[in-house]
Amino acid sequence: MNLKLSNRHEWVIQSEIRNMSIECGRIGGINLSQGVCDLEVPELVRMGAKSAIDKGINSYTRYDGIDELRAAIAKKHKVFTGRDVNPETEIVVSAGATGALYCACLALLNPGDEAIVFEPYYGYHISTLIATQAVPVYVRMNPPKWMFSKEDLEAVVTERTKGIIVCTPSNPSGKVFSREELDMIAGFAERYNLFVFTDEIYEHFVYDGREHISPVTLPGMRDRTITISGLSKTFSITGWRIGYSICDAKWSQAIGYFNDLVYVCAPAPLQMGVARGLKELKPGYYQKISEEYRGKRNMICDALNKAGLKPYIPQGAYYVLADISGLPGESCKERAMYLLHKTGIACVPGEAFYHDDSGEGLARFCFAKDNAVLDKACQKLEELRT
Ligand code: PLP
Repeated sequence: MNLKLSNRHEWVIQSEIRNMSIECGRIGGINLSQGVCDLEVPELVRMGAKSAIDKGINSYTRYDGIDELRAAIAKKHKVFTGRDVNPETEIVVSAGATGALYCACLALLNPGDEAIVFEPYYGYHISTLIATQAVPVYVRMNPPKWMFSKEDLEAVVTERTKGIIVCTPSNPSGKVFSREELDMIAGFAERYNLFVFTDEIYEHFVYDGREHISPVTLPGMRDRTITISGLSKTFSITGWRIGYSICDAKWSQAIGYFNDLVYVCAPAPLQMGVARGLKELKPGYYQKISEEYRGKRNMICDALNKAGLKPYIPQGAYYVLADISGLPGESCKERAMYLLHKTGIACVPGEAFYHDDSGEGLARFCFAKDNAVLDKACQKLEELRT
């Protein structure tokens, strides 16, 4: 038989995160590798979706989302950023933040265009660029504070650079970009005329009094920023696939057409459920998330410290990178496997977040878990020392 896979299939390799999950399932361990939050979905959101199904809202929707949801997203954006956006022309509801970024890259980047990505990175950002034939270029953020400089940005820019991805709060480092850093990025983007693709999926997961700043609110950013977020994390609905992009109408129409081509629309009744949650949940809901997750962050960081796996305390999101270089093994994959077989805790080997071998001493642990499960995971981790 002379049939072959496309050349493209090599661009999208099975992620290390899935591999760890599979092995964890096989041995019946606790999975702290995948960013699946198993917390309760707010009742309003569940009821909104159920009643939409019962009312017959089960067909295709407008390619950029139902009116109620676009209006609710515009209102939320106003509340949290102070900016007015037009829900008719400037919002595209997509299949999660993942779908929103994919469509934005398809609409705005040409094959061979370069996009800057901060490292350690979220692997899907890289795969999305590669799948759309754009070229990722890396700027290193250095621990413990995950700092970078203007010179680092200037060093990688070329005449092919067309965009920069800013993930704040960041997966996997938990970095929350400061106003000074975003100012630096804004000046850089203006100087080199770049699109700024943001990923703000963890916007409500910020700790210790820090503030999430939406890059689009900085001077000069309005026209060039594609603000991407979604409700997977905020409402614990990772399987519903509801996310969105917000940007100037001159970009959003093409983004919407690609959304139509790839996904047709996001699931209709689930859009209704999310709209209900956005409309009716009180501001206290969002505050409660950061308080609750701050407690979880403290739990896991304490346990990692006790286990001798030094954590880099995250400022936001719900992952922690920890130093696993002291564990037996030749590579971070072997060390992560050692940890899984010794304690029953799955994490993601650091190599998944770097384009070179800089992640070898690191692993990422997700703490978006029910407190009882997290507590058990912490006890198991601590046993590593005994
Ligand atoms: N962006 C980041 C940084 C993530 O960590 C994740 C999930 O882990 C996603 C996006 C996925 O978002 P969605 O479920 O809305 O596609």
